[in-house]
Amino acid sequence: MNVAHSAVKTIGHFIDGLAVDPALDSRRSPVFNPATGAVSAEVLLGDASVVGAAVAAAKKAFPKWSETSSLNRARVMFRFKELLNRHHDEMARLITREHGKVFSDAKGEVMRGIEVVEFACGAPQLMKTQFSDNIGGGIDNFSLRQPLGVCAGVTPFNFPAMVPMWMFPLALVCGNTFVLKPSERDPSVALLIAELLKEAGLPDGAFNVVNGDKEAVDALIQHPDVAAISFVGSTPIAEYIHLEAGKRGKRVQALGGAKNHLVVMPDADLDHAADALMGAAYGSAGERCMAISIGVAVGHIADELVAKLKERIPKLKIKDGMEDDADMGPVVTEAHRQKILGYIEDGIAAGAKLEADGRKHVVPQREEGFYLGATLFDHVTPDMKIYREEIFGPVLGIVRVDSFAEAVALINGHEFANGVACYTADGGTAREFARRIEVGMVGINVPIPVPMAFHSFGGWKRSLFGDHHAYGEEGVRFYTRYKSVMQRWPDASASKGPEFTMPVNK
Ligand code: NAD
Repeated sequence: MNVAHSAVKTIGHFIDGLAVDPALDSRRSPVFNPATGAVSAEVLLGDASVVGAAVAAAKKAFPKWSETSSLNRARVMFRFKELLNRHHDEMARLITREHGKVFSDAKGEVMRGIEVVEFACGAPQLMKTQFSDNIGGGIDNFSLRQPLGVCAGVTPFNFPAMVPMWMFPLALVCGNTFVLKPSERDPSVALLIAELLKEAGLPDGAFNVVNGDKEAVDALIQHPDVAAISFVGSTPIAEYIHLEAGKRGKRVQALGGAKNHLVVMPDADLDHAADALMGAAYGSAGERCMAISIGVAVGHIADELVAKLKERIPKLKIKDGMEDDADMGPVVTEAHRQKILGYIEDGIAAGAKLEADGRKHVVPQREEGFYLGATLFDHVTPDMKIYREEIFGPVLGIVRVDSFAEAVALINGHEFANGVACYTADGGTAREFARRIEVGMVGINVPIPVPMAFHSFGGWKRSLFGDHHAYGEEGVRFYTRYKSVMQRWPDASASKGPEFTMPVNK
């Protein structure tokens, strides 16, 4: 889409402690307010030279920052956390205006990011390692965790503040410097974060933001001075980044897409389960990697469960996310809305029963906004595209199965394995489910089991490529290299001369 350059503000980059607005002939992309459909800004799409400048700034900042004590690095995080508290509403407003999610949900996203910053404030404890005294012959063996160097983060549109905050707080307190490439669809909050880190006392160059698309990402992958890449986004791109960055010897964690199931057992409280399905399927218009997109109704309760959902759907308040009582806002772009509409058409053609149709939903005075109503399909089967693929919109499908074992086999057969939930009143069923399900994050009577900052976040199978989950202790491991040191301070008079056999304790 072509937009007159002078009509809207330009969103640039943040490199070496400064907001950068480079050449006006740079490629650019429109940023929308999804609630109104209007273009609110244009974001510059950085090329290899912009990435080169950001990586050079991060490389220059690394020696001093990595030698700064972990206590002092943590103190920067403490000040950053205070600034985040102060700017909480402003950040949430930026998110709602570019992403479309409702303001209260945007505030929740910022809070979950702040919790990772709080965890990172414990850096001196997190960086503590192990020491074995006198393992033989006056030698001690201890370990160190050292930073990697310049780390990069490539993040998705659906959590423009929280997902970057899964990454850089730990990368920074572990002594690394960072280049963030946020989503080009909602880039503004990342630039505010950069300003706040600077205000918190982070040295220039330690945190940089390059806006852009595939071109910038490829430049990060190919840059020899980038030691590690953390990616969160769709599965095809996660797999691509894991492969390409891995080939170049970089450390990579690449979190991908999802298709999350919520199992409703016949003994579950059905009102509780229906409320959980509503929030988890339609919250943030289904644009969450932990959204529930498939309800699995076990046994005779299916009709009643669907009836309860149909009762609730018309009560959903779908509006501009800045309205106080909105439950659900628009989806991120018109292109994404069209993609979701395509899936709904596909579900109808494949024979799923359309119980609630959100295709024609219009919000008064927001006719140009990218809205969809809540859509519900019953009798979805595993061969259907709407079952197999991630829709990432307000579309919930119900699959009917006869037994617990069938539900577990169904879920374990899916290629995605990010999150899952089971609603039941039986402790034995719950325990069995948590143990047998092949999914990275499990909720028992909890619909969206996003782990706390002091645990770690990650799916299995094609929902995560790499060895480490995000944040928590896994994050510390990802952003540090392990080193083992053996140390002896010999008494020269006790030297026995050269030794040619493997030293052992006798
Ligand atoms: P996306 O994969 O389209 O984009 C993610 C990032 O990759 C963006 O910064 C984008 O600019 C960049 N990118 C896009 N195409 C690229 C290409 N061809 N080469 C290199 N880089 C490219 O994802 P999205 O639409 O922004 O976000 C939604 C997706 O993210 C969903 O699939 C969702 O499940 C997933 N997600 C996963 C998690 C998780 O933790 N597993 C969390 C949030 C979102």
